[in-house]
Amino acid sequence: MKGILIVVSGFAGAGKGTIMKNLMERYPGFSLSVSATSRLPREGEKEGVNYFFKTREEFEEMIERQEFLEHAEYVGNYYGTPKAFVEKKLSEGMNVLLEIEIQGAMQIKKSFQDALLIFIMPPSAGILRERLTKRGTESPEIIEKRLKRAVSESEGIENYDYIVINDEVDKCTEKLHNIILSAAMQPARQRKFIEEVRNDLKKMSS
Ligand code: 5GP
Repeated sequence: MKGILIVVSGFAGAGKGTIMKNLMERYPGFSLSVSATSRLPREGEKEGVNYFFKTREEFEEMIERQEFLEHAEYVGNYYGTPKAFVEKKLSEGMNVLLEIEIQGAMQIKKSFQDALLIFIMPPSAGILRERLTKRGTESPEIIEKRLKRAVSESEGIENYDYIVINDEVDKCTEKLHNIILSAAMQPARQRKFIEEVRNDLKKMSS
Protein backbone atom coordinates (compact mmCIF):
# COMPACT_ATOMS: atom_id res chain seq x y z
CA MET A 1 0.00 0.00 0.00
CA LYS A 2 1.28 3.46 -0.81
CA GLY A 3 2.07 5.82 2.04
CA ILE A 4 0.46 9.21 2.56
CA LEU A 5 2.15 12.43 1.57
CA ILE A 6 1.67 14.74 4.56
CA VAL A 7 2.31 18.46 4.34
CA VAL A 8 2.85 20.26 7.63
CA SER A 9 2.97 24.06 7.70
CA GLY A 10 2.78 26.62 10.46
CA PHE A 11 4.00 30.03 11.56
CA ALA A 12 7.56 30.49 12.76
CA GLY A 13 7.44 29.69 16.47
CA ALA A 14 4.44 27.36 16.17
CA GLY A 15 6.62 24.39 17.08
CA LYS A 16 6.22 22.25 13.94
CA GLY A 17 9.78 20.93 14.07
CA THR A 18 9.39 19.64 17.63
CA ILE A 19 6.03 18.06 16.84
CA MET A 20 7.35 16.19 13.83
CA LYS A 21 10.38 14.95 15.71
CA ASN A 22 8.11 13.74 18.50
CA LEU A 23 5.80 12.03 15.99
CA MET A 24 8.69 10.15 14.38
CA GLU A 25 10.09 9.07 17.76
CA ARG A 26 6.72 7.71 18.89
CA TYR A 27 5.48 6.03 15.74
CA PRO A 28 7.08 3.95 13.02
CA GLY A 29 6.31 4.35 9.33
CA PHE A 30 7.20 8.02 8.87
CA SER A 31 9.97 9.59 6.80
CA LEU A 32 10.85 13.26 6.94
CA SER A 33 11.85 14.76 3.61
CA VAL A 34 15.03 16.87 3.70
CA SER A 35 14.61 19.97 1.56
CA ALA A 36 17.14 21.79 -0.55
CA THR A 37 17.67 25.48 0.10
CA SER A 38 19.80 28.33 -1.15
CA ARG A 39 19.95 29.95 2.29
CA LEU A 40 23.16 29.67 4.31
CA PRO A 41 23.32 27.11 7.13
CA ARG A 42 22.53 28.40 10.62
CA GLU A 43 24.83 27.50 13.45
CA GLY A 44 24.59 23.80 14.18
CA GLU A 45 22.75 22.90 10.98
CA LYS A 46 24.11 19.94 9.08
CA GLU A 47 24.24 19.21 5.36
CA GLY A 48 21.81 16.44 4.49
CA VAL A 49 20.21 16.49 7.94
CA ASN A 50 18.55 19.90 8.18
CA TYR A 51 18.83 20.78 4.51
CA PHE A 52 20.82 20.16 1.37
CA PHE A 53 22.54 23.52 1.08
CA LYS A 54 22.88 24.77 -2.50
CA THR A 55 23.99 27.92 -4.26
CA ARG A 56 21.28 29.79 -6.16
CA GLU A 57 22.84 28.53 -9.39
CA GLU A 58 22.84 24.91 -8.24
CA PHE A 59 19.25 25.28 -7.10
CA GLU A 60 18.21 26.77 -10.45
CA GLU A 61 19.86 23.84 -12.24
CA MET A 62 17.84 21.46 -10.11
CA ILE A 63 14.67 23.34 -11.09
CA GLU A 64 15.67 23.03 -14.77
CA ARG A 65 16.19 19.29 -14.37
CA GLN A 66 12.75 19.05 -12.73
CA GLU A 67 14.19 17.49 -9.59
CA PHE A 68 11.63 19.12 -7.28
CA LEU A 69 8.11 18.11 -6.32
CA GLU A 70 7.56 21.75 -5.42
CA HIS A 71 9.73 24.76 -4.81
CA ALA A 72 9.21 28.32 -3.62
CA GLU A 73 11.05 31.49 -2.77
CA TYR A 74 10.74 32.54 0.87
CA VAL A 75 12.40 35.64 2.34
CA GLY A 76 14.81 35.86 -0.58
CA ASN A 77 15.90 32.22 -0.61
CA TYR A 78 14.86 29.16 -2.56
CA TYR A 79 13.41 26.11 -0.82
CA GLY A 80 12.39 22.89 -2.55
CA THR A 81 11.40 19.27 -1.95
CA PRO A 82 13.58 16.74 -3.83
CA LYS A 83 11.30 14.45 -5.82
CA ALA A 84 13.25 11.17 -5.86
CA PHE A 85 13.34 10.57 -2.09
CA VAL A 86 9.63 11.26 -1.63
CA GLU A 87 8.56 9.02 -4.49
CA LYS A 88 10.77 6.17 -3.28
CA LYS A 89 9.52 6.33 0.31
CA LEU A 90 5.86 6.58 -0.72
CA SER A 91 6.22 3.54 -2.96
CA GLU A 92 7.76 1.64 -0.03
CA GLY A 93 4.59 2.38 1.96
CA MET A 94 6.11 5.02 4.22
CA ASN A 95 4.17 8.15 5.16
CA VAL A 96 6.28 11.09 4.05
CA LEU A 97 6.30 14.35 6.00
CA LEU A 98 7.04 17.64 4.24
CA GLU A 99 7.64 20.62 6.50
CA ILE A 100 7.08 23.40 3.99
CA GLU A 101 5.58 26.86 3.71
CA ILE A 102 2.26 27.69 2.18
CA GLN A 103 3.17 28.36 -1.48
CA GLY A 104 4.83 24.95 -1.72
CA ALA A 105 1.89 23.37 0.12
CA MET A 106 -0.51 24.74 -2.50
CA GLN A 107 1.65 23.29 -5.32
CA ILE A 108 1.52 19.88 -3.63
CA LYS A 109 -2.25 20.16 -3.22
CA LYS A 110 -2.56 20.74 -6.96
CA SER A 111 -0.30 17.91 -8.09
CA PHE A 112 -1.10 15.29 -5.41
CA GLN A 113 -4.83 14.92 -4.92
CA ASP A 114 -4.31 12.49 -2.08
CA ALA A 115 -1.88 14.65 -0.10
CA LEU A 116 -2.95 15.50 3.45
CA LEU A 117 -2.42 19.15 4.38
CA ILE A 118 -2.12 20.12 8.05
CA PHE A 119 -1.51 23.54 9.55
CA ILE A 120 -0.08 23.78 13.07
CA MET A 121 -1.63 26.74 14.91
CA PRO A 122 -0.63 28.39 18.17
CA PRO A 123 -3.48 28.53 20.73
CA SER A 124 -3.60 32.31 20.24
CA ALA A 125 -1.72 35.19 18.63
CA GLY A 126 -0.58 36.30 22.09
CA ILE A 127 0.98 32.93 22.80
CA LEU A 128 2.79 32.93 19.45
CA ARG A 129 4.29 36.30 20.31
CA GLU A 130 5.27 35.03 23.75
CA ARG A 131 7.00 31.96 22.27
CA LEU A 132 8.91 34.06 19.76
CA THR A 133 10.01 36.43 22.52
CA LYS A 134 10.99 33.61 24.89
CA ARG A 135 13.43 32.13 22.37
CA GLY A 136 15.50 35.14 23.28
CA THR A 137 17.48 34.92 20.06
CA GLU A 138 15.58 37.53 18.10
CA SER A 139 15.40 41.29 18.40
CA PRO A 140 12.00 42.98 18.86
CA GLU A 141 12.22 44.14 15.20
CA ILE A 142 12.65 40.57 13.94
CA ILE A 143 9.80 39.39 16.14
CA GLU A 144 7.57 42.09 14.67
CA LYS A 145 8.65 40.99 11.16
CA ARG A 146 7.77 37.37 11.90
CA LEU A 147 4.40 38.37 13.29
CA LYS A 148 3.73 40.41 10.13
CA ARG A 149 4.65 37.38 8.05
CA ALA A 150 2.27 35.28 10.13
CA VAL A 151 -0.53 37.67 9.13
CA SER A 152 0.07 37.03 5.41
CA GLU A 153 0.59 33.29 5.96
CA SER A 154 -2.68 33.09 7.86
CA GLU A 155 -4.55 34.07 4.70
CA GLY A 156 -4.28 30.58 3.21
CA ILE A 157 -5.09 28.37 6.19
CA GLU A 158 -8.57 27.51 4.93
CA ASN A 159 -6.95 25.65 2.03
CA TYR A 160 -5.54 23.05 4.42
CA ASP A 161 -7.44 19.87 5.37
CA TYR A 162 -6.90 20.21 9.12
CA ILE A 163 -5.53 22.59 11.70
CA VAL A 164 -3.87 21.26 14.83
CA ILE A 165 -3.56 23.55 17.82
CA ASN A 166 -0.20 23.25 19.53
CA ASP A 167 -1.12 23.87 23.15
CA GLU A 168 1.20 21.17 24.46
CA VAL A 169 3.71 19.08 22.49
CA ASP A 170 2.56 15.56 23.41
CA LYS A 171 -1.13 16.37 23.03
CA CYS A 172 -0.50 18.04 19.70
CA THR A 173 1.53 15.06 18.47
CA GLU A 174 -1.33 12.71 19.39
CA LYS A 175 -3.85 14.89 17.57
CA LEU A 176 -1.64 14.94 14.48
CA HIS A 177 -1.25 11.16 14.61
CA ASN A 178 -5.00 10.65 14.99
CA ILE A 179 -5.67 12.82 11.97
CA ILE A 180 -3.20 10.80 9.91
CA LEU A 181 -4.77 7.50 11.04
CA SER A 182 -8.25 8.74 10.14
CA ALA A 183 -7.08 10.07 6.80
CA ALA A 184 -5.53 6.70 5.95
CA MET A 185 -8.94 5.08 6.39
CA GLN A 186 -10.79 7.37 4.01
CA PRO A 187 -12.14 5.38 1.06
CA ALA A 188 -10.33 7.67 -1.39
CA ARG A 189 -7.01 6.50 0.12
CA GLN A 190 -8.07 2.83 0.19
CA ARG A 191 -9.18 2.46 -3.42
CA LYS A 192 -6.93 -0.50 -4.14
CA PHE A 193 -8.00 -2.44 -1.04
CA ILE A 194 -11.70 -1.74 -1.67
CA GLU A 195 -11.31 -2.87 -5.27
CA GLU A 196 -9.57 -6.10 -4.20
CA VAL A 197 -12.29 -7.04 -1.72
CA ARG A 198 -14.98 -6.12 -4.25
CA ASN A 199 -13.39 -8.30 -6.92
CA ASP A 200 -13.00 -11.23 -4.54
CA LEU A 201 -16.62 -10.88 -3.50
CA LYS A 202 -17.69 -10.90 -7.13
CA LYS A 203 -15.68 -14.05 -7.78
CA MET A 204 -17.16 -15.76 -4.73
CA SER A 205 -20.73 -14.94 -5.66
CA SER A 206 -20.53 -15.96 -9.32
P1 5GP B 1 13.88 28.17 7.63
O1 5GP B 1 14.73 29.06 6.78
O2 5GP B 1 13.40 28.84 8.89
O3 5GP B 1 14.51 26.82 7.86
O4 5GP B 1 12.56 27.86 6.78
C1 5GP B 1 11.76 28.89 6.30
C2 5GP B 1 10.45 28.34 5.78
O5 5GP B 1 10.67 27.52 4.63
C3 5GP B 1 9.71 27.46 6.78
O6 5GP B 1 8.34 27.86 6.78
C4 5GP B 1 9.87 26.07 6.22
O7 5GP B 1 8.76 25.24 6.55
C5 5GP B 1 9.89 26.35 4.74
N1 5GP B 1 10.50 25.28 3.96
C6 5GP B 1 11.49 24.42 4.31
N2 5GP B 1 11.74 23.56 3.32
C7 5GP B 1 10.88 23.86 2.31
C8 5GP B 1 10.64 23.29 1.01
O8 5GP B 1 11.26 22.31 0.57
N3 5GP B 1 9.68 23.88 0.26
C9 5GP B 1 8.96 24.94 0.68
N4 5GP B 1 8.03 25.43 -0.14
N5 5GP B 1 9.15 25.50 1.91
C10 5GP B 1 10.10 24.96 2.70
